[in-house]
Amino acid sequence: MTLFKDEHEMIRATVRRFVENELNPHVEQWEREGMFPAHEVFKKLGDLGLLGLTKPEEFGGAGLDYSFSVVMAEELGHCDAGGPPLAIGVQTDMCTPALARFGSDALREEFLRPSIAGDLVGSIGVSETQAGSDVAAIETTARKDGDDYVINGGKMWITNGIQADWMCTLVNTSDEKPHKNKSMVVVPLDAPGVERARKLDKMGMRSSDTAQIFLEDVRVPQRYRVGEEGQGFLMQMLQFQEERLWGAASLIKSLENGIQETVDYTRQRKAFGRSILDNQVVHYRLAELSTEVEALRALVYRATELYVGGEDVTRLASMAKLKAGRLAREVGDSCLQYFGGMGYMLESKICRMFRDSRLASIGGGADEVMLGIICKLEGTMPPRAMI
Ligand SMILES: Cc1cc2nc3c(=O)[nH]c(=O)nc-3n(C[C@H](O)[C@H](O)[C@H](O)COP(=O)(O)OP(=O)(O)OC[C@H]3O[C@@H](n4cnc5c(N)ncnc54)[C@H](O)[C@@H]3O)c2cc1C
Repeated sequence: MTLFKDEHEMIRATVRRFVENELNPHVEQWEREGMFPAHEVFKKLGDLGLLGLTKPEEFGGAGLDYSFSVVMAEELGHCDAGGPPLAIGVQTDMCTPALARFGSDALREEFLRPSIAGDLVGSIGVSETQAGSDVAAIETTARKDGDDYVINGGKMWITNGIQADWMCTLVNTSDEKPHKNKSMVVVPLDAPGVERARKLDKMGMRSSDTAQIFLEDVRVPQRYRVGEEGQGFLMQMLQFQEERLWGAASLIKSLENGIQETVDYTRQRKAFGRSILDNQVVHYRLAELSTEVEALRALVYRATELYVGGEDVTRLASMAKLKAGRLAREVGDSCLQYFGGMGYMLESKICRMFRDSRLASIGGGADEVMLGIICKLEGTMPPRAMI
């Protein structure tokens, strides 16, 4: 594969070792506790240079292209739970791309450099209780007061929200039209007026903490704005390209592993005098799913190759995210089915994969939102349709 060279394989091996030595031995405990120690884990990742693969060298990053992020996302898929990879992906590919690209040097010095080093944990604050799919409908406002913004509102379902030090926050800074009135502001989460209102209890991704955050008269300097005022929506849409590609890439190995575990389990599990796997309906279905995962991989690699080449890959990244979400539901459901009663047990890995990967069709833009974007870009969306 021309996209990947020896350097990619070195990153692959480093991430794989990290997952095996630093994540998997603790995953059961973190899942039980409903949280993993983000600062501790991120510091170790930062020391290995893994939190800034694609970030500028002048702020401590490695200055590599996006294909390295994809390799890292793929290898994180070997983690026995989706929670830690999700939290890591938020740090590397969801809350920092816009800051790295559009942030002032001073802002990058204050927030990007320590996030790359693993000294700060970041989060991305877009969704609100009344605005998830419809990002333009967010209601949090930032009003100018002297050199500051005074922020009021709240953010919902914020990954890392309980432990994060800062949140890349989408806010309304004017009364302009919804796509032109938004700005992106870094909010330190220890600022007066920030309340981590509650840790949300989830069906999956249990080791990743998710919070509801209230913002009441939170004062942050205007210099904490990322890029230009009024460009927040656009920057978030750009940032979504990386988030969505990352999300799709992170599922590939996890789905492959789920299929392999199902092969292993059904090979030794007997019913009606033969192994479950020996039923054609079972091994054909697993082969079909493996084929689909290869197709997902091809789509992710193609989008990555074009993105690295400087193209806008909104269409392909949306397709990859859509395909990954849909396929995760198929793989999770079929594999759990072939595990029978064992699959229904909370203790089984397949059950966790089924629960964790269900997020892929919802988080970071639901399947229907991806379909809307694809239709818009293919010119099939009727005029005045919602997305
Ligand atoms: C575990 C978890 C972690 C998350 N982490 C973060 C985070 O770190 N930061 C952040 O900002 N957000 C985060 N989110 C929020 C996530 O991005 C939103 O949940 C998602 O965008 C969907 O928004 P919603 O939940 O408001 O669904 P809604 O907008 O209420 O939509 C509900 C459903 O309606 C359907 N739908 C929506 N629009 C259309 C349409 N046009 N046509 C047809 N059907 C449609 C979809 O099936 C959708 O799932 C997280 C969510 C979860 C569950």
